[in-house]
Amino acid sequence: AAKKAGRGHVLAFHHGLEDEINERRFIEQELRLALARGALTVAYQPIVAGDGLRMVGAEALVRWHHHARGNIPPGVFVAVAEQAGLMIELGEFVLRRALADARDWPDLFIAINLSPIQVRDRGLVRAVASALADSGIEPSRVVLEITEGVLIDNPEEAKLRLKELRALGVKIALDDFGSGYSSLSYLRRLPIDKLKIDKEFVSPLGRSANGGVILQAIVALGRALGLSVLAEGVETEEQRLLLRLAGCDEMQGFLFARPMPASSFLDSIRRGAARPTDVVTHAADEV
Ligand code: C2E
Ligand code: MG
Ligand code: MG
Ligand code: MG
Repeated sequence: AAKKAGRGHVLAFHHGLEDEINERRFIEQELRLALARGALTVAYQPIVAGDGLRMVGAEALVRWHHHARGNIPPGVFVAVAEQAGLMIELGEFVLRRALADARDWPDLFIAINLSPIQVRDRGLVRAVASALADSGIEPSRVVLEITEGVLIDNPEEAKLRLKELRALGVKIALDDFGSGYSSLSYLRRLPIDKLKIDKEFVSPLGRSANGGVILQAIVALGRALGLSVLAEGVETEEQRLLLRLAGCDEMQGFLFARPMPASSFLDSIRRGAARPTDVVTHAADEV
């Protein structure tokens, strides 16, 4: 019976794997079409100052609404794009779209995620320079978010590339700090301007005493290294207060606003949304 159960298990695993491969193939094919047809969009999530009282910028987050499947999360299709050789094209689309949209926002920075694949690409610096020039945006208003994944293959090349990007006048943020394998030494090794503390460190705030201690230490460390420190995934008023006490420079999370389409984001700016409570997304806008 044990043997039977074992074989059944193997069979189920086999089927699971096959489904997974088919699913990936499907996503890849559909993503190719979506890119070719310009079916992807970019949503923007407000980022507020540490006092939580005014918006200072926004993060660009790619969105894909599939006609049959509905919204497919970037956590799924960005990974497929990376594996299927589509990431440079996807990244270029987000870069150009976000810079064009942000040109209309007065005094706000735009943060754009870069995949490690893009950072590894020799054409990146030229692509960013050309997108900056075409949009006419002030490079100092642009933040490029990278992850520790850029260090995996060739850390020296990654560092060089980041320095070249900074020479264009843009800022570099280390995203998702504290998730995965983050080592404190990355903070010294990478040429960065800003630290984005992962929500993993923000969500325990107010729930456990230790959570607060670790977060305070990370904020202090970042600031001591001359970095601007942003906390991601702020969802409660209690978290906001503790982060403010810890000396966080900026915050981002559902407490303030969810990612929204460019048009809604622009509307909220035009309405003069100075306080985060004014930019809180209406349910219908959520993307
Ligand atoms: P990320 O860069 O860390 O982006 C923040 C993610 O956290 C977004 O998820 C955002 O919607 C979500 N978030 C914001 N506030 C809260 C909150 O208070 N609570 C919770 N639970 N979540 C919050 P999203 O849009 O699903 O994106 C997931 C990830 O996909 C991003 O994480 C980023 O790694 C990747 N991604 C998204 N857009 C792009 C892109 O244009 N290029 C690249 N390379 N990656 C992207
Ligand atoms: Mg990000
Ligand atoms: Mg992040
Ligand atoms: Mg994240």
